Amino acid sequence: MSSIADNLGSVTRRIQKATLQAGRDAGSVSLLAVSKTRSAEELREAATAGQLAFGENYLQEALDKMSELSDLADIEWHFIGPIQSNKTRQIAAAFSWVHSVDRLKVARRLSEQRETGLPPLNICLQVNINNEQSKSGCRPEELPELVSEISQLPGLTLRGLMAIPDPDQSETGLRQSFRMLANALKELKRDFPEAGPLDTLSMGMSGDLETAIAEGSTCVRIGTAVFGERSRKS
Ligand SMILES: *Cc1c(COP(=O)(O)O)cnc(C)c1O
Repeated sequence: MSSIADNLGSVTRRIQKATLQAGRDAGSVSLLAVSKTRSAEELREAATAGQLAFGENYLQEALDKMSELSDLADIEWHFIGPIQSNKTRQIAAAFSWVHSVDRLKVARRLSEQRETGLPPLNICLQVNINNEQSKSGCRPEELPELVSEISQLPGLTLRGLMAIPDPDQSETGLRQSFRMLANALKELKRDFPEAGPLDTLSMGMSGDLETAIAEGSTCVRIGTAVFGERSRKS
């Protein structure tokens, strides 16, 4: 079995190769290690190998790991799971980024509840591009309204868009989904130049990071290829 450090090395090489092949600048794609269901010790191993950005889907599980890893001050925590509105206070307090904001109510609460002593919370809007099964993500048509409202919220910095395309589609379908998200971000930058940096496209997972990078991803969210297969489906 290969170690987490070895896996991080291979994933980093895959990212570098895809970035180069797409004619993009080296270093323009960051790696978010998706650590749901993984133990604090496995995260510590990744951190020791230099991986400092972790994505978590479940709040309580994330909070437990944060306290176990509180000696590692440089870790950056990203929340990437569905958000229940009664959990926003803890999310706003504990994370630097939230990739899964998909409605105004949640955005307003995160902004109000972000402590003023902390920098604004970085957020991405999650868009449901073609995954009928998934209840998460706003519809693409809702984006302009959401962006114009969210750009007014002082506790948030609007960084970009996130999507989890339907994994069961063809390579062509997948590519089109990523392209739709990239185009949606371009249109928002054009129509709302003051809305925030809008510099992030959070797309691509273990199986499709090359396609996502070819279509403009700036942040790939990788679980399996870093930590191995998850034992429970999630
Ligand atoms: C689990 C998960 C990932 C990582 O998926 P892998 O296929 O294991 O790389 C990425 N993004 C989200 C939102 C996830 O829930």
